[in-house]
Amino acid sequence: MNTLEGKIAIVTGGASGIGRATALTFARAGARVVVADIDGPGAEATVEQIAAVAGDKAAVAVRADVSDSDDCRRIVQTALDTFGALHVLFNNAGIIRRTTALDLDVEEWDRVMAVNVRSVFLMCKHAIPAMTEGGSIVNTGSGWGLKGGGNAISYCASKAAVVNMTRALAIDHARAGIRVNSVNPGDTDTPMLRDEARQLGEDWAAFQTDAADRPMGRSGTPDEIAQAVLFLASDAASYITGSALVVDGGGLA
Ligand code: NAD
Repeated sequence: MNTLEGKIAIVTGGASGIGRATALTFARAGARVVVADIDGPGAEATVEQIAAVAGDKAAVAVRADVSDSDDCRRIVQTALDTFGALHVLFNNAGIIRRTTALDLDVEEWDRVMAVNVRSVFLMCKHAIPAMTEGGSIVNTGSGWGLKGGGNAISYCASKAAVVNMTRALAIDHARAGIRVNSVNPGDTDTPMLRDEARQLGEDWAAFQTDAADRPMGRSGTPDEIAQAVLFLASDAASYITGSALVVDGGGLA
């Protein structure tokens, strides 16, 4: 039942990391995919990768800033204009600033909140009315949305908001046949994580194996997160809504 045959999906942050892996996984599972990202060429590159595995009509790229309401409306409209419906929304675009409150300025706080939190509200506001056949929304939280983390005050706040916003959305739209869940990765080997290691001045190999929140001695892969997102997006998860699925190799445990 882990199929998206005949479904239309939006993936935000689809130019890189978890978003790109999930866009490819969705396409392999039969979905047609709108790949949205502020990085236009990166989104186009994902669409090319999808074309290689699922044909050149399986995906379309949209350059958009998910913190902007008009851009979010345009992403949804692209799904309707190109593919005629909308069933799945993966709100995944995100950014991180690895600082304490003391070193974070107000503009950076606002940007993290706009990209990580406002985006989920805006995308849901525009997408839910388009999900006339019911649907599934998956929001990318984080292990740090469920517990604290050092040197990431705005990120921790933003991801906790995503996790609880997911629950509120799930309650509000359940009767419309729309399920809303969060996927909460632990450290996952993406450009974001490698940039974090650089920001913290840490050696990548040591960063992978040292931390107590990596019991398996490694980070996850984007494909391992994508498989969990596919499950939540598909009818295999038909009675799951409002949940926070942790995919972190035992880190939270
Ligand atoms: P990534 O940096 O590889 O990908 C993030 C994508 O989001 C990029 O393509 C970027 O261009 C896009 N993006 C950023 N701001 C945007 C905006 N305003 N509008 C549209 N697109 C925008 O990072 P990733 O690791 O794949 O992260 C994906 C999600 O997973 C994020 O929400 C992140 O917080 C979350 N996450 C990542 C990890 C990890 O260890 N990598 C752990 C937990 C949660």
